[in-house]
Amino acid sequence: MTAAYEPDNIFAKILKGEIPAVKLYEDDDAIAFMDVMPQAPGHLLVIPKAPSRNLLDADPEVLGKLIQVVQKLALAAQEAFDADGVYVAQFNEPAAGQTVFHLHFHVIPRNEGQPLKP
Ligand code: 5GP
Repeated sequence: MTAAYEPDNIFAKILKGEIPAVKLYEDDDAIAFMDVMPQAPGHLLVIPKAPSRNLLDADPEVLGKLIQVVQKLALAAQEAFDADGVYVAQFNEPAAGQTVFHLHFHVIPRNEGQPLKP
């Protein structure tokens, strides 16, 4: 079972403007900003404004809008970095690698042979 949403998580603080972030995009439902510890140049995160711990408890309507933003920013990142492809990733719960408990998608432009930092 998915644990409850914790409103004091770091991305909730970014949403409230309580901590800074390099914001790239905002609409009524989502924001995107640079990852503070990028795994490769151009690593950005897309999050909904609505509170969801992760994909497992997200409202399908929120998810539907969010994935469209992910697509838009994946295309923009690919173009901006002249990349061969785009890595899109999303983790649910600590066992699967989630460390910040507000739903987010990682978007990372990728080039052939370029390693991801661990
Ligand atoms: P997760 O492992 O939960 O999928 O990834 C969380 C991501 O959030 C990590 O890539 C990490 O570098 C990033 N992150 C953690 N704290 C902050 C922060 O304060 N600001 C930003 N911009 N990114 C953060």
